[in-house]
Amino acid sequence: MGDRPPIVIGAGPAGSRAAVTLAAAGLAPIVIDEAPASGGQIYRRAPAGFTRPYRSLYGFDAAKARRQHEMFDGIRSSIDYRPDTLVWDLKPGALHCLAGGQSREVPYRDVILAPGARDRIIPFPGWTLPGIYTLGGAQIALKHQGCAIGRRIVFMGTGPLLYLVAYQYAKAGGGVAAVLDTTPFAAQRRAVPGLLRGGGTFAKGLWYVAALRARGIVVANGIRPVAAEERDAAVSAFVYRNAAGKQRRLACDAIAFGFGLSSETQLADLAEIPFAFDPVQQQFLPERDSTGRTPVRGIYLAGDGGGIAGADAAELAGERTALALLEDRGHDVDKPRLAAIERTLRQSAGFRVALEAAFPFPADLAADMSDETILCRCEGVTAGEFRREARALDADEINRAKAFSRCGMGRCQGRVCGPAAAVVLAAALKLPLERMGRLRGQPPVKPIPMAVVT
Ligand SMILES: Cc1cc2nc3c(=O)[nH]c(=O)nc-3n(C[C@H](O)[C@H](O)[C@H](O)COP(=O)(O)OP(=O)(O)OC[C@H]3O[C@@H](n4cnc5c(N)ncnc54)[C@H](O)[C@@H]3O)c2cc1C
Repeated sequence: MGDRPPIVIGAGPAGSRAAVTLAAAGLAPIVIDEAPASGGQIYRRAPAGFTRPYRSLYGFDAAKARRQHEMFDGIRSSIDYRPDTLVWDLKPGALHCLAGGQSREVPYRDVILAPGARDRIIPFPGWTLPGIYTLGGAQIALKHQGCAIGRRIVFMGTGPLLYLVAYQYAKAGGGVAAVLDTTPFAAQRRAVPGLLRGGGTFAKGLWYVAALRARGIVVANGIRPVAAEERDAAVSAFVYRNAAGKQRRLACDAIAFGFGLSSETQLADLAEIPFAFDPVQQQFLPERDSTGRTPVRGIYLAGDGGGIAGADAAELAGERTALALLEDRGHDVDKPRLAAIERTLRQSAGFRVALEAAFPFPADLAADMSDETILCRCEGVTAGEFRREARALDADEINRAKAFSRCGMGRCQGRVCGPAAAVVLAAALKLPLERMGRLRGQPPVKPIPMAVVT
């Protein structure tokens, strides 16, 4: 047990840097990632044989992407790297990993969880039509495969990713019909003093908006989605109200939408880390301290999986967390380096608060969701059915409401519908969001073949 190598789950900015730090200290960590290559979401690599240059794949982040990839490739021979491997369950002392259709138990002594985040969505009428993607999904199509999701695409929602992905499509020659932000312009203007703390990141955001406008693309704030329309079994138009309350209709063949990100917390939940409600991110998050240690011995948490902070912060948190693990294993670590990392992470937390103010999760959209809207697409549960079951059976907590309505019980285990369902429930019962609790993580954390568990 004492000699067991540490395990890092996730090879994004957080996990890669953690692995590099452990390797530099002479340990040979096992690094597990369900993706075929390292890089995580932001530095996702193109498949072998694709030749798009770094500059066109990663834009302003090209140099960082190259450094990340080279850093990880540099330790490949001194670590046990397991790509294409999904950790689908975590029990005390053992992970359950699926690779090549086979599940294997991997014993552990200490684990760094770095599973990142996913898109946060709010369903709207028609959102399950073919041609509608999350912003992250649309970006993956472009970044990973070099394909566009349509020829005339509406980008809708809020958050930095809205502008970034629309810009990436426009730059790659994809047809951007419009960029529609649900956040009123006044809210974004009020957030400017805080956003200035982000320096280069804020400047990049301004650049994306200016570049979209310079291409003649409509960029509008304060909109409210009404519906996606269908023709020939695919999306054909997006209907919305503009900031003045006037209904507008935009013909399109694809929609990319999203409202910020949610941390991937299922493995932390299975590890029995306690959770607390985060009022800034409006989400229950696993507890970790500034070093990445959690209240559960041997379980560490780094990057967006413990709260959304962005790629630079994730990378630093990966290093800090690996240093905490090394300290706990009795290694000497560079104390001034620890202090410097923690100081930078504290500073970036201030910028995150400003970002949340500039792009708030529009909970009112979820609260006002029409009864006919499909809330849980896996189980086909509408918002009306969910509200009715919750009220009739006195389900004043999200897991109870799930049990009665089946909302969140399907293949995605509520990873997609859960955040919006909690707001719908809170509004229906006129209770604060934090009273609704959180959907408990269940294995398998992502869909796996039945044969693996039977
Ligand atoms: C879809 C998407 C696109 C984004 N694009 C951008 C962008 O272009 N620019 C930007 O600045 N920010 C972007 N972000 C935000 C940015 O990716 C994060 O801030 C940053 O990557 C966080 O780094 P991380 O290491 O914590 O997580 P990630 O980069 O998300 O890496 C997590 C890794 O863990 C792996 N993983 C997760 N669960 C498991 C499991 N159960 N078993 C095995 N492996 C697992 C994943 O495959 C992934 O490689 C994006 C986020 C998302 C969700």
